[in-house]
This record gives sequence, structure tokens and C-alpha cells, in this order.
Amino acid sequence: MKSVFSFFLGRRSDWHLTAPWIRMPRISLHWLGPFAIVSSVVAGWFAFTGTTGLNQASTFSMWFGSSSIVLMAWSFILAFRVSVLERFWGGLDSMYRAHRWAGALAIPAMLLHTQIEPRTKGAQLVAGASRNVADAAEDLAETGELMLYGLVGLSILRLIPYRWWKWTHKLFGVPFAFASWHFYTALKPYDNASPWGVWFAGFMLAGIIAWIGRVFIRDTVGQGSEYSVVDVEHTGTVSRIELAPSAKPLDFEPGQFAFLRIGADRMREPHPFSIASGPSADNLVFYIRHLGDWSDNLPHTELISSKVRVEGPYGHFTPVSGSHTKSVWIAGGVGITPFLASLDEPLPGGHETPVLLYACKSVDADPLVELLQAAASKGRIDLRLFPSGSRLTPETLDELFPDGMDDHHVALCGPAGLVRDMAMAASSRGARSIETEDFDMRQGFGPDRSREINEAVSKVPVLTRAAH
Ligand SMILES: Cc1cc2nc3c(=O)[nH]c(=O)nc-3n(C[C@H](O)[C@H](O)[C@H](O)COP(=O)(O)OP(=O)(O)OC[C@H]3O[C@@H](n4cnc5c(N)ncnc54)[C@H](O)[C@@H]3O)c2cc1C
Repeated sequence: MKSVFSFFLGRRSDWHLTAPWIRMPRISLHWLGPFAIVSSVVAGWFAFTGTTGLNQASTFSMWFGSSSIVLMAWSFILAFRVSVLERFWGGLDSMYRAHRWAGALAIPAMLLHTQIEPRTKGAQLVAGASRNVADAAEDLAETGELMLYGLVGLSILRLIPYRWWKWTHKLFGVPFAFASWHFYTALKPYDNASPWGVWFAGFMLAGIIAWIGRVFIRDTVGQGSEYSVVDVEHTGTVSRIELAPSAKPLDFEPGQFAFLRIGADRMREPHPFSIASGPSADNLVFYIRHLGDWSDNLPHTELISSKVRVEGPYGHFTPVSGSHTKSVWIAGGVGITPFLASLDEPLPGGHETPVLLYACKSVDADPLVELLQAAASKGRIDLRLFPSGSRLTPETLDELFPDGMDDHHVALCGPAGLVRDMAMAASSRGARSIETEDFDMRQGFGPDRSREINEAVSKVPVLTRAAH
């Protein structure tokens, strides 16, 4: 019994929320995206305020309802992965963070809307549809509300393996469509054909189009450039995959990543990986650590000659900054991959050799250590390895940079705790140019039991086939 509890509950640390590292506010284009979300929610207030006969509580109730719709619409728009929008958020990882926050904040907004019953009697309101249609839409919205709470519950639990979680996540469009229909048909202070009507209808439409586009087009039809697998090497828990372009190759910068959709049995789900080869190389190289059910399949799949759709490039992670001559790269585990593309590329004029601090499990068992040591022997990086036992801590920075880090560009990628601690440490030692890359797009709470659940399911062939 105790082991069943510990399987589902995991350790106390599995439920901890790792507080993100908040950067110093620097005015840049990256603020425009979050600003657009906040201002579109705040602006909605003016659609409901000042309505004759509508009391304050009812105004709030209607505004909370509209805010919930607008936030959900943003969440769908951000999940559509429009690469031109990246510049307004500072990369796809920040867009996914905004996607999660917008989705999460839509829930309390909806709860507040439903808990504060608006008093519409005597207020100057316009019907969005006939009474019967509006009542039926309200019933649908109530069903959608329950569905939404259930989906959110499933969404934040890590226990559910990604490939099942992804299906539950796709269903979010249904409660959104129900809520939007209710909002459109309900009594409101404005007519649906008025500027406010068009404003909110624009959000509802954009959200629904983004959801349909993401679920029925982007996730089903192959996107991106076509490549084929020309070389594969499996060493320990890492696979090196080399892809040759079938037509025009991808144009990318070191530090960027792409979604790979491999045309082989059980490998068709798109997964994000950092491009480990330099932009000047003919082929693309990826190093993929076996961390779960999809990546565990790699060594057991015949990959040579398989067609691969490479969707991207995405991301704004820049290991080398043009405005600094000193770079420090801090990587933990698989977080080393976004730095690999920079190893063979020329550094900007006057740039010193980047210092790489790499926390890995073991020097002998990590196939990437050999690659890094070869780069270090050519003078491309100043490599400092921290295998388990020799900890990479904030104090390491004092030893390596006794004069502070004011003039350094610091780029970090790896486990959330390491990235947060080291970014804060670099900041407190004077670094102002700090970049981080987040490898966990899903996030959530509780233990990750994907492997154990996968193993159990693999013993039931019918379930295995259905899951893929
Ligand atoms: C920007 C970025 C760059 C990355 N670069 C690399 C890299 O170069 N090398 C490497 O080994 N790993 C990289 N990863 C991590 C890699 O994408 C996941 O480890 C991999 O997708 C795990 O899939 P799985 O099914 O084997 O494991 P699972 O156990 O199913 O998933 C583990 C976790 O990986 C994430 N994940 C799983 N599937 C997807 C998906 N389809 N899309 C998005 N996230 C998913 C989820 O957070 C999930 O909880 C990167 C991730 C991101 C976001």
C-alpha cells in the first residue's frame, strides 16, 4: 500500500514549484507580447463599465467572463507556434510560458465570472441572440466549465505520460468554443456588430482558428523542410542523428532548435531538439538523450534513410553575444546541446575563448564529453567539467571569475534549479547579459512516471497500439 502511495505521490520535491528567475527589466521588443496580453484584458473592462442599471458586481462578473475568453484565446494563439511572433516574447520557450500563464489565469477568471451572478434586470443590455439560443448556450458553457476544470487537473499532473497528456490538451478547444458561444449569445452592454462586439469576436475567432490550425493541421500534416537520416550512432543513453537535406536546407543560428517528425514506426510525434551542428555544415546533427517513451525507442528503430520533417528554426538563445567579448556557458545534462552548434563556428572579432561549465553525470559515460574535449584541445572552448561529486555551485563563479562578471555574456541551459541558481549567482556577480533556455515545454506537478506506466502498458499489446 505504501509503495502505491509513493508511486503516485513521489517525493516532496516533485510537487515544488521552481520559481522562475526574474530578469532585470530591460526595455526591448520582448515586452510587447506580454504587454499585448495584459492590455487586451484590461481594455475589455471599458466594454462593461458605465452601463446604465448595471451594478459594480455585475460589471466585474461580465469583465471576468470576457477576460477568461481573451486569455484562453491568447493561449491558443501562442500554442500555434508562429515563428514571427517569437521576437515579441523573446523566443518560443517564453511564448509557451505565456501560453501556460494565460491558460492558468483564465481559470480563476472563469470561476469568478460564474460565482458572481450578474443582475441584468433593469440594466441597459443588448441580447446577443434569442432567449432560447442564449439559454442553450449557457447550458453548454456550464458543461464546458466542468470539462475545463477536469482538463486543467489532468494538464498539471506529470504522472500522465506526454503522449496521452497531449490528447487531453488538444481537447481544450471544446470548452473554449462553448464559452465563446455563450459569451456571443448572452446579454451584454454592447451589440455584437459594435466595435466592442468585433473586438471580442476577433479574439474568439482567432482562438478557434489557432486551435483548429494547431490540432487539425499543424499536428497532423507534415510541416517544415524535408531531410533524411544519413547517420545514426547510439552511445549509452544518447543517440546522435545526422540528417541530409532533400531540398533547400534550414537557415538557422547557433542555439536554435527545431521540431523533428521522423517518418518511422512509433516516431512520428514531433519533438523539439537543439541543432547541434553549425549553420555552415552541410547536414544537421542532433544529440538526443533517452529520457522517455519516444526517445527510448530510438535505439530500437531502423532510422537510416527515414524521411524527417524539420520544423523551425525556433528560439532566441544566443550562446555568443555580438555586444560582449567574453562568454560563459553553463550547461547541465542534456542542456549542453544548444552550445554544440557554436563549437565549429567562427567567433566575432576580438571575442575571447568561451568558458564552458558543464555539469554531467560521469566523464567516462557521457559521449558528449569527448566532443567537448576535442573542441577544448583545438582552443575553441575553455572546458570545466563537473561530474556528479564535484558540484557546480554559485561559489564556482567566485573561483573562476574573481574580478566579477560585469563584462560577461552568460548563457545557461539545463535543469530548472541549476539554471535558476546559477543565473541568480551570475547576476549578483555583475553579469547583466544573461540568457536561459527552457527544455521543459510541458511543466507540471508531481512525479514523472512515464517510463513505469509505459512499461506496464507495453505488456498489454492492445493499449500499446492505441497509444501510438
Ligand atoms: C527547446 C528545446 C530543445 C531541446 N533540445 C534537446 C536536445 O538537443 N537533446 C535532447 O535530448 N533533448 C532536448 N530537449 C528535450 C526533449 O524535447 C525531450 O526530452 C523529449 O521530447 C522527450 O520526449 P520523450 O517522449 O522521450 O519523453 P517523455 O517522458 O514522454 O517526455 C519528457 C518530457 O519532455 C517533454 N516533451 C515530451 N514530448 C514532447 C514534445 N513532443 N514536444 C515538447 N515537449 C515534449 C515534456 O515536458 C515531457 O514531460 C529539448 C526540449 C526543448 C523544449
